[in-house]
Amino acid sequence: MLELKNVNTYYGNIRALKGIDLKVEEGEIITLIGANGAGKTTTLMSICGIAPPRSGEILFLGKPIHDMKPDKIVSLGICQVPEGRRIFPYLSVMENLDLGAYLRRDKGKIKKDLDYIFELFPILAERRHQAGGTLSGGEQQMLAISRSLMARPRLLLMDEPSLGLAPLVVKRIFEIIAKINSENRTTIFLVEQNANLALKIAHRGYVMETGKITLADSADRLLNNEEVRKAYLGI
Ligand code: ATP
Repeated sequence: MLELKNVNTYYGNIRALKGIDLKVEEGEIITLIGANGAGKTTTLMSICGIAPPRSGEILFLGKPIHDMKPDKIVSLGICQVPEGRRIFPYLSVMENLDLGAYLRRDKGKIKKDLDYIFELFPILAERRHQAGGTLSGGEQQMLAISRSLMARPRLLLMDEPSLGLAPLVVKRIFEIIAKINSENRTTIFLVEQNANLALKIAHRGYVMETGKITLADSADRLLNNEEVRKAYLGI
């Protein structure tokens, strides 16, 4: 579904991505793990056109997207749940969700997707008239995920959904991510520092260090890999 080939991305003179190669197949959960500053967010920003690569190729469903503007990339079916959630704090839960569906033309199906989201996250149904900024951190993460789902993405990019949340909330969010993948057939590319949880729900994983992919394997094998256990799982 998605392929990055020798992708190099710069911020001015800083080379943040150094020849990244990776693949995401339809129906998979892929996780990209790595330390602070490794280049995980930059990888997502390159895919969605916000930090376009200086060289290399990004293919989505076989077509090059590395020269496209972000709005065009969204319209192809790639949607990002950004780090830090970035919901609209003064808009209600319902208005945040409506904005997620802004580019859709199949208006008839939106109500069905909203029902599905309220089934996944009943708390959002209860709070539908409340301002987004008054929700708890975990509820805001649920809203950010739901807002992206309202765009009915084929590929959902998620940037550190566990950031700043209590362990029980994180566990719940990860269960839901797995459910969205299995029930809703949404392909997921998950960037995480919480390597343990991410590898438990992912099919495959990539490890990134200072702008390069250093390991690529099935999630099971990465969970049992000695280097990964020492560096990222604290075991
Ligand atoms: P974290 O887990 O801490 O979010 P990350 O793996 O997502 O880290 P990136 O945010 O992609 O890492 O950063 C990769 C490198 O690019 C870092 O060295 C960072 O300082 C640099 N960088 C990121 N954004 C910018 C920017 N807007 N301008 C200049 N340098 C940047």
